[in-house]
Amino acid sequence: MAGHVTAKVKRSLKALAVVILVGGAALFAARPFVPFTPFGGGDDRLSGPPPLYMDLEGEAKVTAITLADLSDSEIEDRARRPVETIVQVRSGEKLTELLGRAGVASAEATQAIDALITLFDPRQLKAGQKVTVTHAPAPHGFGRGEFSKVSLATDPIRDVFARRTDKGGFKADQTTRPVSKQVAHYSGSIKSSLYESAMAAGVPVQVIINMIKALSYDVDFQRDIQQGDSFEVMFEGWYDTKGKLVRPGDILFAGLDLSGSEIQLYRYEDSLGATDYFNAKGESVKKALLKTPVDGAKITSGFGMRNHPILGYSKMHKGIDFGVPPGTPIQAAGDGSVEMAGPNGAYGNYVRLRHGNGFATAYAHMSRIAQGVHTGRRVMQGQIIGFVGSTGRSTGPHLHYEVLQGNNQVNPMSIKVPTGVKLAGKDLDRFQGHKRQTDLMMAQIPSATHMAVSALAKMGPKKN
Ligand SMILES: [Zn+2]
Repeated sequence: MAGHVTAKVKRSLKALAVVILVGGAALFAARPFVPFTPFGGGDDRLSGPPPLYMDLEGEAKVTAITLADLSDSEIEDRARRPVETIVQVRSGEKLTELLGRAGVASAEATQAIDALITLFDPRQLKAGQKVTVTHAPAPHGFGRGEFSKVSLATDPIRDVFARRTDKGGFKADQTTRPVSKQVAHYSGSIKSSLYESAMAAGVPVQVIINMIKALSYDVDFQRDIQQGDSFEVMFEGWYDTKGKLVRPGDILFAGLDLSGSEIQLYRYEDSLGATDYFNAKGESVKKALLKTPVDGAKITSGFGMRNHPILGYSKMHKGIDFGVPPGTPIQAAGDGSVEMAGPNGAYGNYVRLRHGNGFATAYAHMSRIAQGVHTGRRVMQGQIIGFVGSTGRSTGPHLHYEVLQGNNQVNPMSIKVPTGVKLAGKDLDRFQGHKRQTDLMMAQIPSATHMAVSALAKMGPKKN
């Protein structure tokens, strides 16, 4: 039934583009308030104002439809629905400013924030965070009514909101989502890069980043990964009742099969409570030097230097190159001290680190050297020492990386660097027990699924 939406109004709305979230609430009229007069002259070509900064996380598709496509009952339905706008916090932006940007009058914004402050400190707002601003439905199914609610997630399981009360003021409240700890298992073959293939398999991005970090001692993400290699990862996470991951936890296992050579990382907590990753033999995966001294996640096929003439080490080249976007942070491959930092001819902006084990490493063509990296300073493994650029004699942004033994460049792909802790005796026995448990868990959880920790405990190993 058309109710008070007349055919004339409907005609004047023809071609009014409305952006909706598939399966979600209508989102429109979300630009800082634009007066809309439905009974006015009726510009048939008027397009609906798009919502502010909607971040859809790839979960929903935006579809443009016209009101002319809608039945009368659908239009009436819209007239009953509140209008939600998802606004992303800009860098340094205060909640009042954000609300202003969403078209909320400052007096109302102040009221809402004063209520919210009892549950949430607005100074904790982070750039990129999403805030949902709700307006009451407007008559006739388009535009929007008065500002009615602001809500945001303070962490993956808690939402706080301030809602307009019947008396006119705002009142704050919160909801928490029930979550359960589960263990998830994914595996797949690598088509382009580990990052892209793990993403395609559905591994959460934070887990991929942590996995790449843990593997960076053993894997040269530029050269070691070939098409057809495979990966496997098992991690803990907190899942909501719909089975959606709300917070990833620790990686319990990460493995790579690189053309038949296997790399396996088991997370293990020793008897003193310290955790580290160990290979199947109980050797810490930490090594004196990282094999990939940049964020391996940035080495994707799009940036891979597949066509670079001098990827590898040669007598002419004396180093290896990592193709990553300009500005990518460069990490110290190992603990050491800065032997040189500054412009160095064809090397451009250059840093050389001396490590305690007879090795030195050098990093060239940086766009800039990180603050505090000066000759004589100590650096820690993984510390950011500069940023990828194309200074000196360079054809494009990349990291030129050298390993020196004494003062001679050596092939980083073939050196044996000192390794970390090797478990022995009772520690090794304890680790082997843990490893068996981890392997069993992986066998019990089918790939691309997750399972409650309690269910796994019940399945457990059979006791005689
Ligand atoms: Zn080079």
